[in-house]
Amino acid sequence: MASTKGNPKAGETVRITDSNGNFLAWAAYSPESALRARCWSFDEKDVIDENWIKQRIADAVEARKNLKDRTNAIRLFYGEADRIPGLIVDQYDTQLVTQFQSAGAEYWREAIADALVESTGLNQIYDRSDAAIRIREGLTERKEVLRGQEPPKEIEVVEDGISYGVDVRSGHKTGFYVDQRDNRLLAQHLAEEFRRLNGRGIRALNCFCYTGGFSLALAKGGAEKVISIDSSADALEIAKRNASRNNLADADLQWIEDNVFEYLRKLRDEGEKFDLIILDPPKFASSHHHITKASRAYKDINMNALKLLNKGGHLLTFSCSGAVDVDLFQKIVAAAVFDSGVEAWMISRLGAGSDHPLLMTLPEGEYLKGLHLITRNEYQPKIGVEVVKASEKSQIT
Ligand code: SAH
Repeated sequence: MASTKGNPKAGETVRITDSNGNFLAWAAYSPESALRARCWSFDEKDVIDENWIKQRIADAVEARKNLKDRTNAIRLFYGEADRIPGLIVDQYDTQLVTQFQSAGAEYWREAIADALVESTGLNQIYDRSDAAIRIREGLTERKEVLRGQEPPKEIEVVEDGISYGVDVRSGHKTGFYVDQRDNRLLAQHLAEEFRRLNGRGIRALNCFCYTGGFSLALAKGGAEKVISIDSSADALEIAKRNASRNNLADADLQWIEDNVFEYLRKLRDEGEKFDLIILDPPKFASSHHHITKASRAYKDINMNALKLLNKGGHLLTFSCSGAVDVDLFQKIVAAAVFDSGVEAWMISRLGAGSDHPLLMTLPEGEYLKGLHLITRNEYQPKIGVEVVKASEKSQIT
């Protein structure tokens, strides 16, 4: 941005023009941020006011109607993709949870809350604007009731027939990883297929399990055993409650509080084997500065997970680091495959559900990506290493 005319306040609508004064976009001004203005509309006829906000919210709610048969945990509004950059709204049953991550969204906070009540008919809104990203926008962190009452300690949601407790006040993100819905269902289907084809339940390992989403989906699919690991005792407590909520007593569910990096090595040393492994770690790279370190971490867990798989085993491996794009992630996993000594096929690429759409004109918005691999052989530990001098080697040949 070359210059600013007037003295706009944080979040106010500004007109972006080229150097000849021709209209380019309407944007929300953000004086503190490196992104000085976030575009809301490229149509000069648009007027950014309460009605415009109301229409954006109504459109977003309408676009998610198809998910209602499957779940009552839905991302109702997804920032740029729904044309209000920095606004996140998740629905957990009758509770809405907001996150205002930009000065522009913050400026229209009351209008947004009114529009949400009008479009959804729900009057419970909790504001989880405690994301660190707000600091970069010159905003402070905030957690409070925006409409209605204080939410209960745990809200029960049902996704694809499985009940989960969600703590919207202190859970991760707004309480639940709604974005993994389709991949949880994939895990369930893989477990069902495994049982049909092999006459026994799948043995699975769910790394970074949080409140047990993938674990319960696998159990519902008829898994024989699921070992789930997370470093958070609080998350594991909810996971265990989620398991009892769903009467999944047939599966042997083990919950381990540990560091995945170390635990994978321990399982390898013990000679454990699995038919399916899920790796859904937290964001290892919070920005481009952390890509190298994050790449090493992704490679480490993928390589060690591959070594634990039976022949024909499934690896569902994810990265939610926006800074690590699909191509790089695939290269990292390929390097892990190469170094593990296990050959693998890639069956499909995975991503977030349809309530997290990617704006075609903003490909940077893609953050969650996953790969579904199938191993073609098993890891063979090397017992001792034979060192042969080149001169001796040539005699043998
Ligand atoms: N798969 C989950 C979401 C995973 S979020 C779902 O579908 O709901 C990432 C999780 O990794 C968090 O629960 C966090 O507590 C955990 N975590 C972060 N670092 C870890 C580590 N080194 N070892 C084990 N767990 C870790």
